Amino acid sequence: MKEQLLKLEKKAFEELQAIRADYELENFRIRFLGKKGLLTSLMKKIGNLSPDERPRIGKLANIARNNLLKFFEETRERILSGDSDEGSFQDVTLPGREQALGHFHPITLMIKEVCRIFYGMGFRVVKGPDVELDYYNFEALNIPRDHPARDMQDTFYISQNVVLRTHTSPIQIRIMENQKPPVSIIAPGKVYRRDSDVSHTPMFHQVEGLLVDKHVTFGDLKGTLISFLHRMFGAETRIRFRPSFFPFTEPSAEIDIECVICRGKGCRTCSHTGWLEILGAGMVDPEVYGFVDYDPEVYSGFAFGMGIERIAMLRYGINDIQLFFKNDMRFLSQF
Ligand SMILES: [Zn+2]
Repeated sequence: MKEQLLKLEKKAFEELQAIRADYELENFRIRFLGKKGLLTSLMKKIGNLSPDERPRIGKLANIARNNLLKFFEETRERILSGDSDEGSFQDVTLPGREQALGHFHPITLMIKEVCRIFYGMGFRVVKGPDVELDYYNFEALNIPRDHPARDMQDTFYISQNVVLRTHTSPIQIRIMENQKPPVSIIAPGKVYRRDSDVSHTPMFHQVEGLLVDKHVTFGDLKGTLISFLHRMFGAETRIRFRPSFFPFTEPSAEIDIECVICRGKGCRTCSHTGWLEILGAGMVDPEVYGFVDYDPEVYSGFAFGMGIERIAMLRYGINDIQLFFKNDMRFLSQF
């Protein structure tokens, strides 16, 4: 009798575990726990046992029944709550549910890519403070107080001598102050200007590069930047240098690439010129070496800077810079 009971209990548990739908559950209830069910019938036989066996087996039977009822209730809850996702029918051809993974912001991706390319050419990645002294942001870069170039950059002032840096160029000065040539660095970071529209945000990202050594020429500058732009936008991309002006480089150039949208035919993105401005660069002005105690008769070098948002917009075909900072997952999850 005891063995019969244990066998039945084991069988019932196994069947209950395999149940996936509520009609199966009802069949089970009738077969085991119903008035004529297997367990009920077995329990009825306890009355026929000898008086000394009856209480022992009766107790075992009650424990078995309670355990089964408890597990029966748990199974019913599992099925009602839908935890058993197979339901009564399992479609093995359905595609799996995709888990969303975290990933980098497009601006971070772009910074990493720019740094990776220059790192491969021997440049070291360095950083500097966002809150900067007027001296590093302007003066040591050959932009004295009365210089008109200060108006080009609408500056956030913290106090008279402290600003939110308007470009990553002050990092050049900080590095040169502490290191004798040869210097070859690449410096990514946030910069701040009082400006906000479809193509400007008050905070954006720049990457600054600087190389100083003996016998560095404008040819080295051209070679380095052409090599970078070809890796960034494709080896077939045409590039042109235009003369320009920056207070801390002489001579200075602005560098354009062939429009990535129309491939030089002319479109709205390139204002129908076929060209897109992408970089500012030049040979470091000897005046700047005076601030960091380098001898301009011995050393020469070049510097360049670029806006990361602009590069990202061209690479990914994005027309509104504000999209980078709205944290809209529908936008961000595309990268
Ligand atoms: Zn175009």
